[in-house]
Amino acid sequence: MSTNTPDIQIPTELRPADGRFASGPSKVRPEAVAALAGIADDFLGTSHRKSTVKDIVGRLRTGLDDLFGLPDDWEVVLGNGGTTLFWDAATFGLIEAKSQHLSFGEFSSKFAKGVAAAPFLADPQVISSDMGAHPVAVADDSVDFYALTHNETSTGVTMPLVRPAGANDDAIVAVDATSAAGAIAWDPSEVDCYYFAPQKAIASDGGLWIACCSPRAQERITRIADGHRWIPAGLDLKIALDNSTKNQTYNTPALATIFLAMHQIEWFNEGGGMSFAAGRSEALSGHVYSWAEASSFASPFVADAGMRSPVVATIDFDDSVSADDIAAVLRANGILDTEGYRKLGRNQLRIACFPAIELSDMQALTASIDFVVGELS
Ligand SMILES: *Cc1c(COP(=O)(O)O)cnc(C)c1O
Repeated sequence: MSTNTPDIQIPTELRPADGRFASGPSKVRPEAVAALAGIADDFLGTSHRKSTVKDIVGRLRTGLDDLFGLPDDWEVVLGNGGTTLFWDAATFGLIEAKSQHLSFGEFSSKFAKGVAAAPFLADPQVISSDMGAHPVAVADDSVDFYALTHNETSTGVTMPLVRPAGANDDAIVAVDATSAAGAIAWDPSEVDCYYFAPQKAIASDGGLWIACCSPRAQERITRIADGHRWIPAGLDLKIALDNSTKNQTYNTPALATIFLAMHQIEWFNEGGGMSFAAGRSEALSGHVYSWAEASSFASPFVADAGMRSPVVATIDFDDSVSADDIAAVLRANGILDTEGYRKLGRNQLRIACFPAIELSDMQALTASIDFVVGELS
């Protein structure tokens, strides 16, 4: 945060009612927190091997089946540690010999780096693009695992999920969907492993990974686990798979995280499913992008409108105004986490458009930015 934040008061009537716009973790809906408080005495601090907790895990797994329209032979697998830990688990238990990675931002490049360091795997193929765009997978006979990212949270770029044409029949298409899951629709026939953590579009807390696995992914997990590779138990996807089918986790999970995720998924499904959830994000980001395009000082960072993320809007500002100053003033007024992604090094704000956020709050955010820019210049 800037040490000399300009002293600007945003009028109360302009400010959003809820000032949480972080791209991770997401705003958690107050209704979900109240529901957790409501069942806390029978749930928090009780055994994760007993029916009360297993029922909630079961509702989370069934809710995801419904939300994504997963075929009956898929399994929703979960374990502790978030997406970063899942990358390690996949390195041990899902990549047979050689992977291909589409690298177009902080998160997609991190997974590729981790795999490159694994001594038991061949050097991965890494296909990169400029920041603010995405590369395209290219089928290769030597590749048994394609690593895609549904939404690059660092740059605000989304990519369509399609199985690379000509990929080997048993190749796995694995998708990091951490910020997209529950906000962007996808087709299970194009994917084998759709994995994420629930602290973004699913508006829960961190610490959990969830992976929707096709029969092909389950077969791969079982075959590698039965083979000669050493796999630490905490990273063993076969152990996670076997526990998940019993609505359990291998070790003690974060119960509040599981409850909040289940609550959000059921809210999506009650509201109409994926079209309801995705529609909320589209309305929010649609508002931000139109506001930026109409503005004299702001513009969307992602040039190709088709690649613009519906869940994380990255907005460039022209030289007349400092995005860092805007973010600092917003923060001082209770509007949080609009700062741009540091490593991109642009004069930019990054605004989450997760389904938990209200459109009226997003409209208040852009009105507040307009006010702040007027005061700064
Ligand atoms: C946030 C994020 C991650 C990291 O998730 P953790 O649960 O913190 O490990 C990975 N990939 C993407 C696309 C993300 O947005």
